[in-house]
Amino acid sequence: MADTEQAKDKPEQKPDSKPELRDMSSVCPKGDVLVIAEHILGDLQPVTLELLGAGRILADKMDRKLLCLVMGHELGDIPERLVEQGADEVYVAEHEELKYYRTLPYRRVVCDFLESLPEQPHTALLGSTTTGRDLAPRIAAHFDTGLTADTTELDIGPYEHTSKVDPSKIGLYPNCLYAIRPSFGESLKARILGPWKNPQMATTRPGVMVPLKRDTKRKGTIRKIPVNLKPDDYRLVVTELVREVAKGVKLTEADVIVSGGYGLGSPDGFDLVRELSKAFENSAVGASRKVVDLGWISYHHQVGQTGKTVRPKLYIACGISGAIQHRVGMSKSGLIIAINKDPDAPIFKFAHQGIVGDIYQIIPEMIKQFQAVQSSEGVKTVVGTH
Ligand SMILES: Cc1cc2nc3c(=O)[nH]c(=O)nc-3n(C[C@H](O)[C@H](O)[C@H](O)COP(=O)(O)OP(=O)(O)OC[C@H]3O[C@@H](n4cnc5c(N)ncnc54)[C@H](O)[C@@H]3O)c2cc1C
Repeated sequence: MADTEQAKDKPEQKPDSKPELRDMSSVCPKGDVLVIAEHILGDLQPVTLELLGAGRILADKMDRKLLCLVMGHELGDIPERLVEQGADEVYVAEHEELKYYRTLPYRRVVCDFLESLPEQPHTALLGSTTTGRDLAPRIAAHFDTGLTADTTELDIGPYEHTSKVDPSKIGLYPNCLYAIRPSFGESLKARILGPWKNPQMATTRPGVMVPLKRDTKRKGTIRKIPVNLKPDDYRLVVTELVREVAKGVKLTEADVIVSGGYGLGSPDGFDLVRELSKAFENSAVGASRKVVDLGWISYHHQVGQTGKTVRPKLYIACGISGAIQHRVGMSKSGLIIAINKDPDAPIFKFAHQGIVGDIYQIIPEMIKQFQAVQSSEGVKTVVGTH
C-alpha cells in the first residue's frame, strides 16, 4: 500500500521510454590488443599472421599497441617475425615444458602474463584452431570474461545498453569489440558484444582475416617473460607428436578445389575426384565431413565448419548434399559447380552452376573434355581471377 502511495508521487515514466545512458567507458576502456600466437614446433601458423593483421587494425583504431604472446621452446626467429608482421611488443615464454601445446601449462602462462600487466588488454584474439578452441575458453573462464568463437569480422564501436534486466549495466559503452560471425546457417551475421569486462575475447577462423605484408624493417620490442609452472600443470605428458603432412597444394591456397562427398559411394571414388582435380593448375582435393568421419580420406581435406574455410576461384562439389556445416566453409568460392543426382539437393540452392546426374557418368566426361582441351592447347586448365 505504501509503495502505491509513493509511486503516485513519482514522475510518470512511459514503460518503453529510453533510460538515461551513463558513460560506461571505464568498464571496458580502450586498451591494447593481444594476439596469442600459435606455432607447431617452430612452424608459425598462418592464422597468427592473419590475427596480427586484424589486431593491427583494431589497435590503430583505439590508438593503442598490438601485443603478441608466444609460448614454446627454441623459438628461433619467431619473435622477430611477429614484429615484422605487425606486433609492437612481443612477449616470449620459453621453456622446455612448452615445446608441445598442452592445455594446463599454456593456460598457466597466459593467465600469469595477463595478471602481470598493469592494465588488461582491451581485446585478446586466438585462432579458431584445435589449440585456440581449447585454450581460449580456459582463459575466458579464468578471467570471467566473454568469448566469441569462430568470428569472421572484427571491429570496435559503441553500444547502447538499454535492457532493464540489470539496471546497473544500462549505459553507453563506447569501445566494444564487435565480434562478428555467421549464425542461423549463414543467413544472419551476428554481432556479439561482451563489454562488461576487458579483455574482450574472440577466436577467429583461419583463412578469413588478411595478414599484413611482411616488413623486415618494422621495429618492435621483444621481452622474455617468466614461466612458473606448478606440479598441477604436468598432469598430461606428451611423448610424441605425429604430424600428418599434407601432400600437394594446400586447400587454403588452391585456386581450384574438387571435393567429394558420401555420393562417391566408397573411398575409391576419390580416385576420380583426384583425376578431375589434376586437370587444373594449383588444385586440391576437398571432402565433406561425412567421408572424413568414415575414414575415406584424411581430416586435412575436410571443408566446412569443423574443417577448413576455403575460397578458391572454382569449387566443384561431387556427391555433396550441401549441409550448412559444409556450406559455411566454401560459400565464398568464386564459382561453385555442384554435381548431384538429386535435383532437390540443398547444394543446388547456392551453387552457381548445377549438374543433375550421376557423378560416375559426369566426372569421366568432364575429365575427357578437359583432356581434349589440354592435348590441343598443351596446358592444364588455369582458372582466372574472379
Ligand atoms: C557440429 C557439426 C559440424 C559439422 N562440420 C562439418 C564440416 O566441417 N564439413 C562438412 O562437410 N560437414 C560437417 N558436418 C556434417 C554435415 O551436417 C553433413 O552431415 C555432411 O556435410 C554431409 O556430407 P555429404 O554431403 O558428403 O553426405 P550426404 O548428406 O549423405 O550427401 C550425399 C549426396 O550425394 C548425392 N549422391 C549420392 N550418390 C550420388 C551419385 N552417384 N552421383 C551424384 N550424387 C550422388 C546424394 O543425392 C546426396 O545429396 C557437421 C555436422 C555437425 C553436427
